[in-house]
Amino acid sequence: MEKGIVYINGAFHGVDDAKVSVFDQGFIFGDGVFDTFVVLHGYIFKADEHLDRFYRSAQAVRIKMPLTKEELRGVIIETVKRTGFMDAYIKCIVTRGVGSKPILGRGDTPKPTLVVFAVPPLSVVDQEKIRNGAKLVSTTIRRAPPETLDPRIKSINYQPNMLMRREAIAAGADEAVSYDHEGNVAEGGVENIFLVKNDVLFTLASGVLEGITRQTVIEIAQENGMGCVEGNLKKYDVYNSDEVFLCSTAGGVVPVTEVDNVAIGDGKPGPVARKIMETYDQMLREGIHGTPVYA
Ligand code: PLP
Repeated sequence: MEKGIVYINGAFHGVDDAKVSVFDQGFIFGDGVFDTFVVLHGYIFKADEHLDRFYRSAQAVRIKMPLTKEELRGVIIETVKRTGFMDAYIKCIVTRGVGSKPILGRGDTPKPTLVVFAVPPLSVVDQEKIRNGAKLVSTTIRRAPPETLDPRIKSINYQPNMLMRREAIAAGADEAVSYDHEGNVAEGGVENIFLVKNDVLFTLASGVLEGITRQTVIEIAQENGMGCVEGNLKKYDVYNSDEVFLCSTAGGVVPVTEVDNVAIGDGKPGPVARKIMETYDQMLREGIHGTPVYA
C-alpha cells in the first residue's frame, strides 16, 4: 500500500477510496479535533501521550469518542501495519459526524466520524531548513485567547495557522511566529517555540498547544542540566535571543536563524538547538518512548 491506509468508522480503505460525507460537521463547520503521530523504524513515538491529548481535546469539545483509548491504539497499530511502512505520518481525526440537517443545529449527531490515516513520512518544514535553519516572520494574526477556543484543544480548524503560513511565505520566510493579545510570543504556525539565552531555554507557560515535542524538549534540557523557564516573552526577547528553535511532531526540532530579517545570534543554527535536535532524533531512531507496530 504505497500511498497509505485510511480507517473510517470501523473499515479500512486505500487512500483513493477513503471518503466521508460532505454533510459531516467536520467539513461544514470545522467541528472536530485531531492529533498527529510519527512512526520511525517501526515505533510510534509517545503514542500514549498523543492518545491522551486526543481524548482531552475530544472531551473539551464534547465529542464522544466511539472507541476506548486501548481500542484506538489497536486501530492505529493495525492501520500502520496494513501499510507495511517502517516510517509513517499518522493522523487521527474525530468530528461530530453528520447531523440531521446541514445547518448549525443542536450538535446531537447520532455518531461521530473517526478517521485514522497512515501515509509516508511528511514534514511541515523542508529538510534543508531543518539542517540550515529557518526564517520566521512575525504574523499579524494573534493566537486565539483561551476564552475563544482554548489553544490546548487540537481543533481541526487551522485557518488562522494557514493564514499565518501564507503571510510568512508572502514575506519570503518559511514559517510564522505568532503572539497572543498581550504581545507574548506564542508559537510558530504549527509548532511550539523556544528561545535560548545564556544556555537557558524559555517558552510560553500557557495559552498554547501542549506540544508533545515541547514536553520532550523540556525533558531533554533537564537531562542535560540546562535550565528551562516557562514565562512570558516579547518580540524584544526574540530579537535578543542567542538561539530560537521550533518543535513539532511533523517537523522535529528546527533551528531558526532569522526573525523579521533580524539575524538570531550569529545567524547560524546554535549549539543548544543542535544538541536538542540530535538527542530528539536519536530518541526516535532508537525507539525510546516508542510503541512497536510490528511486535
Ligand atoms: N502548536 C501548534 C499550533 C501545532 O499545530 C502543533 C502541531 O501540530 C504544535 C504546536 C506541536 O505539537 P506536537 O509537538 O505535539 O506535534
